Amino acid sequence: MFKAVFPGSFDPATLGHMNIIERASRLFDELTVIIAENRQKHYFFTAPERFEIMSELIKPWKNVSVVIWDSLIVEYMRQENIRLLLRGVRGMEDFSYEFELSMMNKSLYPDIETIFMPTDPRYFVIRSSSIRELASFKGDVSGMVPPLVADALRAKFKQE
Ligand code: ADP
Repeated sequence: MFKAVFPGSFDPATLGHMNIIERASRLFDELTVIIAENRQKHYFFTAPERFEIMSELIKPWKNVSVVIWDSLIVEYMRQENIRLLLRGVRGMEDFSYEFELSMMNKSLYPDIETIFMPTDPRYFVIRSSSIRELASFKGDVSGMVPPLVADALRAKFKQE
């Protein structure tokens, strides 16, 4: 049985993330999306908000689930006995960061393997930080995020 985790901030979830999840759902028996909650980091959407959005978005796939985790990803993997850690890469810049991260995770928990999945060319330029910025100027983000996320961004900026 191949079980994998796909950790990230998902602040917010984008079509790039969802494409990785869709492809991974066909490769692995079970995929757990981990909403990372790092107390040192400032997020735009709270962890419960990111969780709620992701819970809706993964509904099409029966073998995909989501959790919030506020500790090391490898600790979640150890606890759940999951050995595969999936990360998406958009290009060399992502890769050098992801490669270092994988070395660190491997030293923390040698039994795990990190698997890199290249982005689909359609989503190559999509990143959560640019989407937040674009949305803050009321730019059109509909080609970059699922409709649910576009609505959540609009609602959040209205509150501010
Ligand atoms: P983190 O804060 O951990 O980098 P992100 O939410 O930014 O979390 O990303 C989670 C994972 O999804 C990372 O592996 C990241 O490289 C990947 N990712 C982000 N955007 C895209 C995209 N457009 N295409 C493919 N992978 C992506």
